[in-house]
Amino acid sequence: MTQTNEPAGPKTLGKVRPHQTQNEALVFEKSSPGKRAYKLPPLDVPAVDFSSLLGDTHRKTAPLLPELSEIEIIRHFTRLSTWNYAIDLGMYPLGSCTMKYNPRVNEFVSRIEGLAEAHPYRPDSLAQGILEVIDLLQRCLIEITGMDAITLQPAAGAHGEFTGILLVRAWHESQGNPRRKVLIPDSAHGTNPATAAICGYQVENLKSNAEGGIDLEALTRQVDEETAALMLTNPSTIGVFESQIAKIAEILHAKGALLYMDGANMNALVGKARPGDFGVDVMHLNLHKTFSTPHGGGGPGSGPVACKAFLEPFLPTPVLIQSQDGAKHWEYDRPQSVGRVRAFYGNTGMFIRALAYILANGPDGLRQTTEDAVLNANYIRHKLEDLYELPYKTGSMHEVVFSDKRQVALGVKTGDIAKRLIDYGFHPYTVSFPMIVHGALMIEPTESESLEELDLFIAAMRSIAKEVEETPELVKTAPHSTRVSRLDEVQAARKPILRWKPTE
Ligand SMILES: *Cc1c(COP(=O)(O)O)cnc(C)c1O
Repeated sequence: MTQTNEPAGPKTLGKVRPHQTQNEALVFEKSSPGKRAYKLPPLDVPAVDFSSLLGDTHRKTAPLLPELSEIEIIRHFTRLSTWNYAIDLGMYPLGSCTMKYNPRVNEFVSRIEGLAEAHPYRPDSLAQGILEVIDLLQRCLIEITGMDAITLQPAAGAHGEFTGILLVRAWHESQGNPRRKVLIPDSAHGTNPATAAICGYQVENLKSNAEGGIDLEALTRQVDEETAALMLTNPSTIGVFESQIAKIAEILHAKGALLYMDGANMNALVGKARPGDFGVDVMHLNLHKTFSTPHGGGGPGSGPVACKAFLEPFLPTPVLIQSQDGAKHWEYDRPQSVGRVRAFYGNTGMFIRALAYILANGPDGLRQTTEDAVLNANYIRHKLEDLYELPYKTGSMHEVVFSDKRQVALGVKTGDIAKRLIDYGFHPYTVSFPMIVHGALMIEPTESESLEELDLFIAAMRSIAKEVEETPELVKTAPHSTRVSRLDEVQAARKPILRWKPTE
């Protein structure tokens, strides 16, 4: 799926890529007995019989692994790596997920031996370097969010939500009543209602208004003394900034309810606006979105939770403290803490990457990043809104959400267009989410992309819109350039075949 600068379009179809010319699928079957990828000199020391050490666990027969030469193995894995799509190959316009490029310097820094190999059981006095990294990251994130305190323990966004709502619950309990319900807008990410439910709250749905924001009247009607919090994503999942946010906070606070912000979309706010300044009490960040290291494929994540001072006593233990002499140490004695939410201190590798990203950009760079991300989304919106339906006309922030309304009239759905995009060398955008937009095409280019890449993407989307009118079958049966085309997605998720098994 290598992208070229050739004009995109169906003429690239059927073009055989060089690595597809061989009998590649059969590489495992290329095995032939006795082939080796290495050669060791004959044993010149006494052989050790491991069976006495290993007992029953000692394997009696060799595993049935394919036998191949080194170059065959190298080619196999290199070829496999080209069958998949990666941010290193081209744009990854998944909305809501901020799949930005992870600068190589972050990887370099996270592998510095002294940091990468700092053992979590090392005494604090011998871990001052990594503790300094953690402390500095905490201070940067507190500054960026405008909050007062933070925990880096949660290992993902959803885990951060869970931790944040535990803080909300602990605080309400300390006031005498944990309260009963959490309000969640209908545009929310699915993890929000799941979090509230897991924390023992009833979820109450809040309808969006015509601009895709919170309906203040509905909110006023629904908030009462049993409302623990509102969980709000800002900008929302349709990429719209909630301009009434301060008023929303006021309405909640008047009834003693708290404002939780899902900060997964901070890529549109960093350096421009601080949740702590617009009334948010507690929020999570997705370091693996906003602060590089794209997620997906189950890689390590990090979902720090930042809060206002009144919630600090409830933060998970341990909490990083600096003593008078400047030394840092973990404090475990926090009587009001919700307890641990994860082993040790969080995904430290992620902390290092995020800090490297923040320091490499600096305050001006981070602001520029936000501006570029918003500019890129709006550029795409401007260049495509004549061909794709824009259900919410409110100004877009870091992502733009179209719908397939016009294409559906011709029998082509958002999922078909997304699959056709693969033929043009792009990863699909987010399909059918958010749910308040029927047939959504959710596009988030991020700041990583150049004007040239954006123009290629736009050209592809325009070309597909034309195909929908002229040759809809071509789109409905896409992708045509991949090794497998329309998979049974349900079976692929429920019964994945992940292992090669030797045929006897
Ligand atoms: C990604 C995302 C989450 C969940 O984050 P994970 O790290 O995937 O658990 C929550 N809310 C929003 C708006 C998101 O985009």
